[in-house]
Amino acid sequence: MAINISNGQLFINGEWREGSSNVVKPTYNPANETFITDIAQASEADIDAAIDAADNAFKSPEWAEMSPLERSRLLIKVAQLVERDADELATLESIDMGKPKVFSLNIDTKLLADLFYYYAGVAAQIDGVTRKVTRTQSCVEPLAYTQRVPLGVIAAITPFNFPMLLSATKFAPALAAGNTIVHKPASATPLTAIKMAKIFDEAGLPKGVFNLVTGSGALIGNRLVDSPKVKKIAFTGSTEVGKSIAKRAIDSVKKVTLELGGKSAHIIFDDANLDKAITHALFGIYYNKGEICTAGSRLLVQRPVYEEVLERLHQATKSLIIGDPLDLNTTFGPQVDRNQVDTCHRYVEQALQDGARLITGGHRVFPLGDKGHFYAPTILADVDNSSPVAQEEIFGPVLCVIPFDTEDEAVKLANESKFGLAAGIQTENISRAHRVSSRLQAGLVWVNTYNQFDVALPFGGFKESGIGRELGTEVLDAYTQIKSVYIDIEGK
Ligand code: NAD
Repeated sequence: MAINISNGQLFINGEWREGSSNVVKPTYNPANETFITDIAQASEADIDAAIDAADNAFKSPEWAEMSPLERSRLLIKVAQLVERDADELATLESIDMGKPKVFSLNIDTKLLADLFYYYAGVAAQIDGVTRKVTRTQSCVEPLAYTQRVPLGVIAAITPFNFPMLLSATKFAPALAAGNTIVHKPASATPLTAIKMAKIFDEAGLPKGVFNLVTGSGALIGNRLVDSPKVKKIAFTGSTEVGKSIAKRAIDSVKKVTLELGGKSAHIIFDDANLDKAITHALFGIYYNKGEICTAGSRLLVQRPVYEEVLERLHQATKSLIIGDPLDLNTTFGPQVDRNQVDTCHRYVEQALQDGARLITGGHRVFPLGDKGHFYAPTILADVDNSSPVAQEEIFGPVLCVIPFDTEDEAVKLANESKFGLAAGIQTENISRAHRVSSRLQAGLVWVNTYNQFDVALPFGGFKESGIGRELGTEVLDAYTQIKSVYIDIEGK
């Protein structure tokens, strides 16, 4: 399939241009390992040019003095173009990272448009408060108020697993608040980032407000983090890289938000509706072939229903349709690359050596001939919660199932993790649902469902799963700073 998305160029200051070093790298389709297109590799000079363009655009009257309603109109236009080009965006996402198109089209592009519509609505409501001061120097009360002002150049550094969505969770609020952007997408999945740059251009964003630099993570990342002109790093990715960014960013006291890894516990109590619980457990781990930060990768099951859940889950994995992501019947695609497959396999082998019981999977599969980075949906039972397979993020379709006896034990096991991104509870007991959700150390708790996201609901992690929140109006804290103004109006 010929894809006419990239001409190996970068998008800087409103123009498509060759990288100054003229280096390009191929990108491949993980389902069949075929070449898709060449991607420009930005040099330090290119990154600096993108930062300068964003910095100049931030100060330009065209952007700085644009009214909030005008920014809303631009964001609405972006949302409409996303809807117009949804099929192309979904196709690009699916060939780039192996996500079944049935999801990239019906879930991702819809949420993508939602993000721009929602923050278009927010743009004109970013305001401050008047405050009554506590001490006054004279009999006339001073006027004291706050304003929320944009930060300046935002560097958005994004991961491979939801390329367009996790970029737009940064773009939409950042632009609504009046910032400018340099985007560095994941090296393995740049295609929808290129398409989004085209959409921003067509929507009429002023030159330099959005810039795209593709290429090496470390080279571009470090340059962005070190630049004094970049005022904030909005990062989604691994905990390891996130920590290194945060340490480096402190040198310039740069603001940082981190959306990092997870190893989420999904608890099935013996009073759950098991038909629904099995569906949610399946979707919880195998959605996006396990390449999702909130994956319910530790399934805690109360002992009276433990063997039944294992058997029914095993049967349910057979309903997954593994195949070409572009086929709309496919529900389970390839891992993003060979590394991810090898990582899954390494953890499974280690777990079996450590005494886990293999229920299904644990091997590669080849639904499309002898090529493709597919790994079978895998279930490991009797996993020790303290073992590496239960404590480290695998980021693949490997489910660890762990038995428990009491509610207290379930909460203890769930919280015994350095991560705290999400958690799930399956129960028909409403008191238990509230009680357990209040005790779980996680940024997002689902009850009788799993992996449900909404633009209005804040998203982010406890513990080593991150710093800050995306989505909702809470994300505005990440893209604005507060200015307090104190006016002595006595005037003497
Ligand atoms: P990654 O950390 O390898 O890469 C993320 C981004 O950082 C990429 O754009 C990469 O090129 C860039 N990068 C790499 N090295 C860098 C460096 N030294 N300095 C600056 N940037 C650098 O992550 P990934 O493999 O693309 O994504 C998977 C990870 O992302 C998982 O850990 C997953 O849990 C996490 N994730 C978290 C969330 C969340 O919202 N909490 C969402 C999705 C993914």
